[in-house]
Amino acid sequence: MNQPQQRAEIEKGPEGVTDHTTVLIVGAGPAGLVLGNLLQAAGVETLVVERASREQVQTRARAGFLGPHSAKVLAEHGLGTGMLHKGHSHGLCAFRGANGEFELDYARLGQGETHTVYPQQDLVSDLIEEYITRGGELRFGVTVTDVDARTATIRYRDANGSGQLTGQFLAGCDGSRGMTRHAMPDAVTRHHQDHGVAWLAVLAEAPQSMAAVTYAIHDDGFAGHMARSPEVTRYYLQVSPDDDAEAWTDERIWAALDTRMRTDEFGPLRRGRITERRIVHLRSEVVDPIQHERMFLVGDAASVISPSAAKGANLAIMEAELLARALVDALDRDDHSALDAYSRTCLPRIWRAQEFSRWMIELLHGPVEATAEADFQRALRHARLDSLRESHAHQNFFAEHYVGI
Ligand SMILES: Cc1cc2nc3c(=O)[nH]c(=O)nc-3n(C[C@H](O)[C@H](O)[C@H](O)COP(=O)(O)OP(=O)(O)OC[C@H]3O[C@@H](n4cnc5c(N)ncnc54)[C@H](O)[C@@H]3O)c2cc1C
Repeated sequence: MNQPQQRAEIEKGPEGVTDHTTVLIVGAGPAGLVLGNLLQAAGVETLVVERASREQVQTRARAGFLGPHSAKVLAEHGLGTGMLHKGHSHGLCAFRGANGEFELDYARLGQGETHTVYPQQDLVSDLIEEYITRGGELRFGVTVTDVDARTATIRYRDANGSGQLTGQFLAGCDGSRGMTRHAMPDAVTRHHQDHGVAWLAVLAEAPQSMAAVTYAIHDDGFAGHMARSPEVTRYYLQVSPDDDAEAWTDERIWAALDTRMRTDEFGPLRRGRITERRIVHLRSEVVDPIQHERMFLVGDAASVISPSAAKGANLAIMEAELLARALVDALDRDDHSALDAYSRTCLPRIWRAQEFSRWMIELLHGPVEATAEADFQRALRHARLDSLRESHAHQNFFAEHYVGI
């Protein structure tokens, strides 16, 4: 399929005009945009519909750590120009606790791989630009209200009223609260795990304070430090699951970070204006299977993973690439084997990422109360940290899983 397919005719549907396309994609996050770009490059006609405005999706700050597989997929498919120019390689993390600090140079451990730090909103902006350049059609301000997986049809609402769109295939890339996963039949398994932990996710207009991603383990709760760009740093603070982000003033945030990051021992943080504070509940969700009839779920629509191991956007990119290849096989060569196996191929990788993210949650968090059970948990956590500090095998395990999918 070297040339974009001709758009099929437009016919009248029950709710007015029904537009037809080859692959209809719901959601313009990393999943939908990588998929759309790869399909457009392969000559497959696509249409992306997105509820938010272009400005909203291009300013939504979330992920920042792209694993080597994501960076390779983006670079190989001509989607990595911004990432290669403005992103930077990162291969060092540090753990701080009551017994001091140790660093893991994960670029030299495991498979010797690194992350590329590039803010998700910048990646999304690049992907939108490139998708349009490749001739893809992207409609913002379109809210999908109903989904039929059997006919790959959606109903939507936009500023002009309502309408209907149909594809040969439908890709559900509309995140964890979108409509496509709800359209999966009752028979699918919907795994759900609330890890009972919440983070206050903070963005500060300040350069990073340390060279490494830093995980601070403290009896008051976890605190994390991650670079995003030369001007912006992300911090995390473990908070009570029913906490209110607005109750955290700038001063309170910096004071908690100082305590938990032990700045009196390790040096001060570079402060700046706090531009975002939001509560993130650490939860896992996996839909099994992630395909039904002519619909395929990708990214957060298929599985939600806690940000503790920075895997969500990486899973989205990995699944989008697999699905793009499978769709091209089916459309080009009438070979449906990879498409039929899409769910079976993705789910083991999703579960391995979930398993590592859970391992990270248990390493970083513990009970803050003073009970015998809490003391026991704290002692186990310290033992695991000691092992990570001292055991080369443990460090290699960490490095391999930290960057890999
Ligand atoms: C604080 C935080 C930090 C994170 N850090 C990392 C990290 O470092 N590394 C990493 O890999 N991951 C990280 N993640 C996870 C990552 O951001 C997500 O996994 C990623 O955004 C998933 O991409 P997606 O395209 O599947 O979904 P989304 O990015 O959620 O995109 C879905 C799109 O669908 C649209 N949509 C929803 N409903 C509808 C509808 N009814 N009709 C039309 N459109 C709709 C939405 O508006 C949205 O634009 C982090 C997440 C958070 C919250």
